[in-house]
Formats: sequence, structure tokens, C-alpha cells
Amino acid sequence: MAWILILAVAVVGAWLWLQRRPRLPRIVSPEYGALAAGGARPMARSSGERSAEAQTLLEAFRSDEMQIPEDVDRDDRAMLVRILQLLAEYTEAREAVLWEPHETPDGRLVAAAWSLGSEPPALTEQERLFVELATSEQRLAYNPSGPYVRMMALGLPVHLSHGAVSVHFADAPTLGTAEIEQRLRRMAVEVSARYELLRARANLSVRTKRLRRMIRTAITLQGTRDPNGQEEIVVRDACLVTGAHWGALVRGTRDDSTLALVRHSDGTPVSLTSGLTAQQGSLVGDVFHAGRPRLIADTRPLLEGDEMLFDATPLPSGTRSLIVVPIRRSEEDPCIGVLVLGRTSRAPFNAADSGAAQDLSTIAAGALETAWAWQDATLSAKTDQLTGLPNRRAFEEEFERMIAETDRYGNTSALVIVDVDFFKKVNDNYGHDAGDQVLKAVGATLLAMKRTTDKVARLGGEELAILLPQTDRQGALEAAERCRKAIEALAVRTGVGTIRVTASFGVAMYAQRSQGAGSLFDRADQALYAAKHGGRNRVEVAPD
Ligand code: GH3
Ligand code: MG
Ligand code: MG
Repeated sequence: MAWILILAVAVVGAWLWLQRRPRLPRIVSPEYGALAAGGARPMARSSGERSAEAQTLLEAFRSDEMQIPEDVDRDDRAMLVRILQLLAEYTEAREAVLWEPHETPDGRLVAAAWSLGSEPPALTEQERLFVELATSEQRLAYNPSGPYVRMMALGLPVHLSHGAVSVHFADAPTLGTAEIEQRLRRMAVEVSARYELLRARANLSVRTKRLRRMIRTAITLQGTRDPNGQEEIVVRDACLVTGAHWGALVRGTRDDSTLALVRHSDGTPVSLTSGLTAQQGSLVGDVFHAGRPRLIADTRPLLEGDEMLFDATPLPSGTRSLIVVPIRRSEEDPCIGVLVLGRTSRAPFNAADSGAAQDLSTIAAGALETAWAWQDATLSAKTDQLTGLPNRRAFEEEFERMIAETDRYGNTSALVIVDVDFFKKVNDNYGHDAGDQVLKAVGATLLAMKRTTDKVARLGGEELAILLPQTDRQGALEAAERCRKAIEALAVRTGVGTIRVTASFGVAMYAQRSQGAGSLFDRADQALYAAKHGGRNRVEVAPD
């Protein structure tokens, strides 16, 4: 009886042993539970675990930097590599690789993950052909000739596109080709699912970071009064949010006809940074007028074609992709400017980047609008309407600044007061309008003659002033004399005839920590008086 029992057990055991099938290795992920041959089935987590995770995320969100998504990405990647290693083991291959089409315009396949070593595998020409074939036709591809299959590629959906997984053999496998194929197909599902998860979580992490950055942008903008500071924040944060290598802020003028580059980030190519004004028909001009964002994933056609970014200045060759978005508070509001972002890396901007740039520009629109309106108001309060020069109020500020800087840095500075000679006669003979034109021309002439550090202002009536910081007596005299000659040579064409005028100049010097500003002005005025009395159309310098 016992023998029969033992025999029965042995027979059943032998039968079971013969029936055994190769099993897929069991992969246990701490977060997602068992991933078995049947496919990924996330294990339900307890509510305690979930709330702990939520708490950690919340803490990360509140802390300065988002650590969690990076860790998640690292873990996911490690898991993906592990699955590829298991795939290689299971198919007796030396190596297994996941391929995806690169986001570059040429769509070339790149290794997304691989089982062996730190460097992506190098493919032979033939191997690449098989991987490409498997990808494009979404099927199995391998070379059936030769003593054994050296590599096998299987097309699979990868990240909303077509990719492939391939296995590469060093030695002849003991498994038959059909068995390898079957195992490859079964494991490929795991590879694909795990990669989707990785990408989805990486995307989520990018979005979370973006959101967080944008909230901070809004908060920082609220707390910044200075318009320059606000412009800087917008450009800096737009680069951070979109991963741009450089950014530029373009502002529309009040009459909407011109657009000027008002701020740019550090890495902005030099060719874009010198006082640009966008023209109609340029990319920036079109975005401003149409109010629609543009994403240029590949700048090459733009570089080769006629389309321009701002004006005739060529698009910098290092820039591979561009985002150009309008700045406005809402779709109903007028466009007040344009944000331009450039990337120099191979990976181009995508629609998500463009969307983030648009969101950021909308967040910033209100603050920029207020800042620019304030800038306009202060500027117009300091500008003389007739000549466009700084007015007396602006002059006084600049005057005080020059005195303070001379006291601080030493050397001498100069003040020149200019008064048009017999200007009353110009008005009497040609009329007030013609007189205005002469004043404009005199202002423009002084402006054209000055050095970049000098300041020209209209003090009132036909009296103007030039501030010459860090200038000695000789330099101030020469500058005044140059201006005198230029005005003497001026012929102002008006509707009532060509008008010529001369002007008298009073110069006074200021040495470090000498007499105050009031005294300097009085001495320049006295010198001017002396010039008038000396016969006009001349320069006089006040005695020190
Ligand atoms: P002088 O050589 O002594 O400086 O003689 P002047 O005639 O230039 O001097 P005065 O101060 O007697 O006259 C200045 C004139 O400038 C008087 C005023 O009508 C005129 N004026 C002041 N502001 C303006 C302006 O904005 N436009 C015009 N057209 N004339 C102005
Ligand atoms: Mg006068
Ligand atoms: Mg005068």
C-alpha cells in the first residue's frame, strides 16, 4: 500500500516536473507591488501609506527645493534598468536596450535606457537598421541568416510615439529563436509600462516645479516696487520655468508702433542685446500684433529664410529653438510686450514649455503693466515736452548726483549754462512756432555734441545746461566751444525761412568737496552774464 502511495507521488512529481515552464522572474517594487508575467498591477496601498506620502510631498512643496520628484525619477530609472537586466537574463542576451525617437526634429532613435554599463550601446549600421525597422513598422525585426541571431528588435509604443526594445547576444543562446521572441514579447510589455510610468512621473515633477516657481514669481513680483527689478524677475524666472538658455523682454511703446528690447538675461547672445527695435513683419512684431504665441522648435528654416526675430540683426546661430509669447493680462486685454526665450541645446522647446512661458507672461503682465505705466509717468514728469530733453526737475537731480559723485570719487566736474542770443528777436521776426523749432534744433545739437556721460537739459525758456562729470577746466572749455560752433553753424529751416542763431556759454568748475551746488550754479550764471556782456556768441569760464 505504502509502495503504491510512494509510486503515485513519484509519478505525479515527475509529471509536474516535466510540465514545468520557464517562469518570468518576479520583480518586486517597494512602491508598486508585484510586477509579474501577467503585466503590471499596482498593489493597492493602505490609506496610512498614502497620507504619509502626501505629507512628505506637502513638506517638499513647502521647503525650498523639490527633492521628491528627482528621487522618484531616480528610483523609476533604476527599476527600468533592472527590468532590462532581467530581460537580458531571461532571453540569454548580453544586453537589452530601450529605444525612443529623440525629440529633435530629425527624430533619430536614441537609447532611453540600457541594461549594461554607464554608456549607451553603440550599434552597428545593420543593427541600427533593424531597430529602425522594428520601430517604424512596430514589429519584430532580426537577421535570420548566420549561425545564430545576434540581435533582435521589437517595436513598441514608447512615450506617445513609436520606439523599440532590442536584445543583443554575445554567444549563441541555448534558447531557440521562437522562444527568445516569445520571451522578448512578454517582457517588452513590462519595459514599456515601466517607461511610461517614469515619463509620466518625470512630467509631473517638471509641472510641479514649474507651478511652484510660478507661484514664487507672482509673490516676488508683488513684493518688488522697482520696475527694473520686476523686469529682471520676469526674464530670470521665465528662463527657469522653461529651461531656456537666454531670455529677452520686449516692450511695446505707447503708440504701439515700435517695440524695444528692455531687458535680457546674462546668456543672451550679444547680437541681440544692442538697443533693438522690433519691426513689423518680424517674429516678435507678429506675436505682438496677433497676440498669439509662437513655438519654433527648429530655428534653421528661420536662419536660412527671410523671417527675422527682431529686425535685420541676424538670429544668433547658437539658438536651436525659440519661444515667443505675447504679454497681456488676458485674451481681452491689449498686448503690452513680448517675451522671447531661446534654447541652445539639442533638445528643443516643446508645447509644454511654450505653455509654461505663456502662463508666466500672463502672471507677470499685471505687474509689468503697472511698472511700465509708472516709468512712463515719471519719465514724462521729468521730460520737457518741446525738446524731449530732461527738464529742470530732472536737471536738478542729475546736478545733485554729479556733485555727490565728484565729492566721492574726486577730480573735477563742470556745469555749462547755455542761453540763446537775442532769442526774443527770433520770436518777434519769425513767430513763436518758428522760435520753438529753433529751440528744438538747439537742444538736438547739444545732445549730438555731448559725450555719453554728459547730460543736457532744458532749464526753461531759451536756457539750457550741460553737466560734464569728471571733466577738467580745459576739457569743459573745449566741449563748450565745440557746442558754440555747432550752434553757430546751425541753419534751422522753417516754413517762414531759414533761421540762424548763436548762443552764449557760462562755464563753472566744481572740485571735490568745494563750494556747494548753489554756488556752482551762481558762478556758471555769472560767467554766462560775462559772455553776454562780452559780446555774446562766446564762452566764459568762472574764476575758481
Ligand atoms: P539775450 O541774448 O540777452 O539772452 O537776449 P534774449 O532775447 O534771448 O533774452 P530774453 O530773456 O530777453 O528773451 C528770451 C525770450 O525767449 C523771451 C521768450 O518769449 C522766449 N521764450 C522763452 N521760452 C520760449 C519757448 O518755449 N518758445 C519760444 N518760441 N520762445 C520762448
Ligand atoms: Mg534767457
Ligand atoms: Mg537769451
